Amino acid sequence: MAELRWNPLLKDWHMIASNRQNRPQMPKDYCPFCPSFGNVPDYEVLEYDNDFPALTQNPPQPDEVGTNFFKVAPNYGKCEVILYSPGHTTTLPELSDAHMRKLVDLWCERFNVMKSDEKIKYVFPFENRGEAVGVTMPHPHGQMYGYSFIPKRLEVETQNAREYYEENGRNLFADMLDNERKFGARIIFSNEAFTVYLPFYTDYPYGVYIVPNRQVVYITELSDHEKDLLGITIRDTVGMFDNLFDYRFPYMMCMYNAPVNSGDYSAFWRYHIKFFPPMRSAEKQKFNASSETGAWANCNPTCPEETSEELRAAYNRYIAHRPPQDQ
Ligand SMILES: [Zn+2]
Repeated sequence: MAELRWNPLLKDWHMIASNRQNRPQMPKDYCPFCPSFGNVPDYEVLEYDNDFPALTQNPPQPDEVGTNFFKVAPNYGKCEVILYSPGHTTTLPELSDAHMRKLVDLWCERFNVMKSDEKIKYVFPFENRGEAVGVTMPHPHGQMYGYSFIPKRLEVETQNAREYYEENGRNLFADMLDNERKFGARIIFSNEAFTVYLPFYTDYPYGVYIVPNRQVVYITELSDHEKDLLGITIRDTVGMFDNLFDYRFPYMMCMYNAPVNSGDYSAFWRYHIKFFPPMRSAEKQKFNASSETGAWANCNPTCPEETSEELRAAYNRYIAHRPPQDQ
């Protein structure tokens, strides 16, 4: 069974994808993403259609449990895997500037392909990293979902950014960045094109944002030079995380473009990346428990200005000990 079911309490679609339970147990040591096993060609970076997608462009008919009250819809959409490197245990901070640029170009290419399907309303590149967020496969990869609806969080955030623009005539993301810069203590690092900061209100202790310094709504609108810097900024953010407690730091990395095929967001949205690392210290995991999950009342057990300082120190250690980059 694979379909969308409507939750009238939240006015939100949930993806029901029981087909994903049937994922086969892989033989030990087999990796579908290593070219040596013959499942994928030789590559540097590669798009790979998810073998067990939650969303598909040829969706099955929804089950006959739908009624006028219980609304169902086909699970229309696309799920792709984005392979970062052919090296099974390679990790983002080991990739060169040029390799990172290839990854950025692949995100842009896949974004355009998904956007060209008018039924797709939101294209969402993301990465889950580490066993703490359920990833057992070490091969470096991210994913990309194309949804036929605008997911709830994006619906809320785009609406609030629109309201802010209507009330103030200014872009909310630009104002957040300006105010973070003025305050200064939560800026982690920046370059010509991007600023990495820990937001004032962060609920995740190490939940940094990467925001372009100028107004850009989609990743595809970045200039050539900005695309180079995006790859470097993402890699160095992960390098910073890995230096925080000296292990491969788990995280969810989420990339937010404006919705597609559904209106003009150019004045009030801004392309950005949010990290959601599930740790609150070297050993302790931050669980989204009853208050966070059941009430959406989030609690950060750390002081954002102090964790910003830890992140800056980790970034400086990373930069000081970074292996030379082949160009
Ligand atoms: Zn592999």
